[in-house]
Amino acid sequence: MKFFQIGIMLFLLLRIPVTALRVRFLNVGHGDACQLQTPGGKQLLIDSGPPEKDFRLHHSIGRRIDLLILTHAHLDHSGNMLRLFRSCSIARFLEPGYPTKSPYYRKLLTAAHRKGTRITMPVRGNRLRIERNLSLLFLNPPRKLYRYTESDCNNNSLIFLLQYHRWKILFTGDAEQSAIKDVLRRFPGLRFQFLKIPHHGSRTGFSAALYQNRGIKAALLSSGRAKNRGNPLFPLITAACQRNRIRLLRTDRLGNITFLLNRQSAQIISAMPGAETFTTKIH
Ligand SMILES: [Zn+2]
Repeated sequence: MKFFQIGIMLFLLLRIPVTALRVRFLNVGHGDACQLQTPGGKQLLIDSGPPEKDFRLHHSIGRRIDLLILTHAHLDHSGNMLRLFRSCSIARFLEPGYPTKSPYYRKLLTAAHRKGTRITMPVRGNRLRIERNLSLLFLNPPRKLYRYTESDCNNNSLIFLLQYHRWKILFTGDAEQSAIKDVLRRFPGLRFQFLKIPHHGSRTGFSAALYQNRGIKAALLSSGRAKNRGNPLFPLITAACQRNRIRLLRTDRLGNITFLLNRQSAQIISAMPGAETFTTKIH
């Protein structure tokens, strides 16, 4: 009888509709990987970290990805994608279309074509609706791709604003100062509560103006450089966050960091035992 009651409870729990958007920044060392599960049951992956020997990413992803986004073709973002194309069904693939000569990137495109995955190259101003109350607004690259910048591959990164109800997360790939300044100039009214810090906190991606944006609650730094105490870059970011009262969340210190976004509130949870967990509200 008890088992029967437990069974009924489990059944009821599973039937409760999931209303939160789950955004999980994975601790992949020096690289980016962010896994999203939507209230409608869709699975999205933004970048796939550097190449993994044991390919743990595979276990948390399963067999189907509705939307795979490559912000740019460098290996610390695309490292496991070829494996994902081999092992998963991927409905749609978004990438910036910057024609890098990297053989790995070319293999990726070939794999996507072979699998019949729909490939899209969004440009500034494009909006992609994922489901009700959830969309992506692309702010970069421009229609005419950047040329002759510090790094054209980085500057042509997909930069986009994820919007869920009134929550906004700015994803920046490895964009450097040229692209960041251009985006801030072209979207002067840009507002967001959460920021994925560009280019793993590197100096080339640092722009003080980005942190002065009113209303930023937390900034996410995906990097594996915690041990490099001599690194002069993080103090710049730490100071910018302190000045603007932004919580700095580092994957190298907190491990995987999950954002559970509901209509009015957001819960931020770290995988590290004893680490900070907090809830914030939108006004
Ligand atoms: Zn990178």
